[in-house]
This record gives sequence, C-alpha cells and structure tokens, in this order.
Amino acid sequence: MSEPLLQLDRLDVGYGDFQALFGIDLHVAEAETVSIIGANGAGKSTLLKAIVGLVRPMRGDIRYAGASVAGTAAHKRVAQGIALVPEGRRIFPSLTVEENIVIGGDVGRPGPWTKHRVLEAFPLLTRLLKRSGEGLSGGERQTLAIARALMSNPRLLLLDEVSLGLAPIVVRQVYEAVPVIKAQGTTVLIVEQDVNQALAVADRFYCLLEGRIALSGVPGEIPKEQITQAYFGMPASGGRP
Ligand code: ATP
Repeated sequence: MSEPLLQLDRLDVGYGDFQALFGIDLHVAEAETVSIIGANGAGKSTLLKAIVGLVRPMRGDIRYAGASVAGTAAHKRVAQGIALVPEGRRIFPSLTVEENIVIGGDVGRPGPWTKHRVLEAFPLLTRLLKRSGEGLSGGERQTLAIARALMSNPRLLLLDEVSLGLAPIVVRQVYEAVPVIKAQGTTVLIVEQDVNQALAVADRFYCLLEGRIALSGVPGEIPKEQITQAYFGMPASGGRP
C-alpha cells in the first residue's frame, strides 16, 4: 500500500510546559474524509494547528505527501496544498462574496477548483456574489470560508468546528458540500464537536479524549455507546452525543 497523504507518528504537542497531545498516531489516505471528534479541550484544534504548522511538535513526526513537514514553516505547507478553515468563519467582511472567493485563489496551487466549480459546489453563493461579507448570515459566512479555502486548491482541506454557533439545519446545509468536495478528489480532515454530523460524512473517525486517541474506526461499525464512552471517558449513561 502506498503511504497515506497525511501521517502523524507518536505526536506530542504542547504549549510551553503544558502538553496538550500525547502520542498521536493518525493517518488520512488521499481522497478520504476523516473526522476527529472530542469534547471541549480534548486537543482537536491543537492537532489541526500542528498539521498546518502553527504549533511545533515536542516529539514525533508529521508526514505529508511522502515527506516530513514537522519542521516546515506554515506558509510553505499552504503552498504544498494544506489549507485550514479555522474556527470562527473568517472572511473579509468589507469585500463582496465574489471578491472573497477570488482572493482565495491568490494563494495555493493550480488545480480543479475554479470560481465556476466552487459556485457549482455551493450554489447558495451564486445569488450572493455582489453582497458584502458583512451582511451574510452565519451559515453563509461558513460556506464562503470553505469556498475561499477551496480556491487555493488544497490537496488536504482541514475544517475546524464548522458547526459552532450554527442552527442544526444550517449545519446540515454546510455539510452537504463535503461529499461534493470529496468527489473532486480533495482529502478532508474535519474537527467537530457535533458528533452526529462528523460521523455522518466521515469514512473513518478518531475520538480524542484529554489529548489521547481513545477510539478510532469506521462510523456504523462501532456501537454508538462505545463512541459515547470514548467521547466522555466514562461508561455511557445516555445524553450526548
Ligand atoms: P475546543 O473545542 O474547546 O476548541 P479542542 O478540543 O479544540 O477544544 P484545544 O483547543 O486543542 O482543544 O485545547 C487543548 C488543550 O490545550 C486545552 O487544555 C487548552 O486549554 C490548551 N490550549 C489550547 N491552546 C493553548 C494555548 N495557546 N496556550 C496554552 N494552552 C492552550
């Protein structure tokens, strides 16, 4: 088997003296959609930050496209095709939707994603093209943030907490784009607190608990109760997720 697109080997990550991730072994194959679930503070965002190069690992390795990138600067990883849509739906509010999309293409690489294709994937944005970013709803902003990232033609797209602060129906609408993105061959790694949504779109998942992988597998093959246990680190007793 060829090497996965992304491979983390025994990764330890921390902030100063505080260690947030412990011995993370994780891989994502090309064109796969993988979700990382876990409660508040489990280390999900830290994992994404390590992959894009915003925090440096203490130990272990991050391999991307066949080579170690553990010591590679963040901007070089972007140029190599790693794109992060951070928490908070960041767009340029003073620019129009169209300008936001076009600007996304100024960084990154050539590839299948053009303005035309992005609008095909997110038809909602077509009628908003001339609107300013400021006037958009939360769901529209989130959609635009993902569209903008796709314009950089990432080989690996990282989505951080897409659902945060959005109504369930809007979350579902935003997630409808994931299979479309996957169909273009783009690999997607999703970090989510909304477990049901994260599992619904994923080929595989990892569950983080206090900085460690507590469970991994294929959604549907693992009983819900076992996932709940891994998520909370205690015997299942009903309630979330
Ligand atoms: P959330 O869903 O709340 O964002 P998370 O699973 O993404 O949680 P992280 O944000 O990765 O978790 O945080 C993991 C741990 O690292 C937490 O204990 C958090 O307090 C700590 N942490 C995160 N960022 C920093 C930082 N810049 N400096 C120090 N500690 C941090």
